[in-house]
Amino acid sequence: MVGDMTDQLAPMPGDWQRALAIVAHPDDLEYGCASAVAAWTDEGREVTYLLVTRGEAGIDTLAPAESAAVREREERASAAVVGVTRVEFLDHLDGVIEYGPALRKDLAAAIRRHRPELLITLNPDDTWGGTYWNTPDHRAVGRAVLDAAGDAGNRWIFPDTEAEPWNGVRWVAVSGSDSPTHAVDVTATLERGVRSLLEHRAYIEALTTKDPETYARELIEGFAHQEAPRFGGRPSVTFRLYPR
Ligand SMILES: [Zn+2]
Repeated sequence: MVGDMTDQLAPMPGDWQRALAIVAHPDDLEYGCASAVAAWTDEGREVTYLLVTRGEAGIDTLAPAESAAVREREERASAAVVGVTRVEFLDHLDGVIEYGPALRKDLAAAIRRHRPELLITLNPDDTWGGTYWNTPDHRAVGRAVLDAAGDAGNRWIFPDTEAEPWNGVRWVAVSGSDSPTHAVDVTATLERGVRSLLEHRAYIEALTTKDPETYARELIEGFAHQEAPRFGGRPSVTFRLYPR
């Protein structure tokens, strides 16, 4: 069926140089949007990752102290595959991140330090696809990112951060939204998106009995083709874009 023009996703804005991607866990960016990051770094843009936790509660068979080190290493390797060399971690606890001023302040401080024009985060809605309940960490972090975009620019909110206020965030792009508005063509970078997810090998091996490469490929290619009809038939990574 051919959709009308209003069904079509718009291309992401191109007039920016620095992005900061803020998510709760190692793997949140790789499950979906790493191919878009590769497309951006290929164009010479700078993308920095900020992980609110080390994902230490993510592997059932591995105790948190050990898991944190493994997952931090895997995240840095995942980032490198898509051209991201700056990866930072905050010390919030996996599974019990609290939405509130403390989290907003940590994120505002990072935004002031990195001065991004674009923020990227993960679906903060209650559900995925309407009926799959989202995790408390994703809800807390996604909401705090949307809020911190404004906090970072107001010198009277969190006045004691090290860096000066930064009111230059122009958009917050939410990955994994049920109601996306924009997309990035990932024809040329889909393979790196697969490789990037595949770097989370310890996590994937604990999660599924499938061959990790088959698992990563099916997932990333599946996502990329899902919304293709709404973006000229091209494999794409979609975002819900909140302009400021
Ligand atoms: Zn997550």
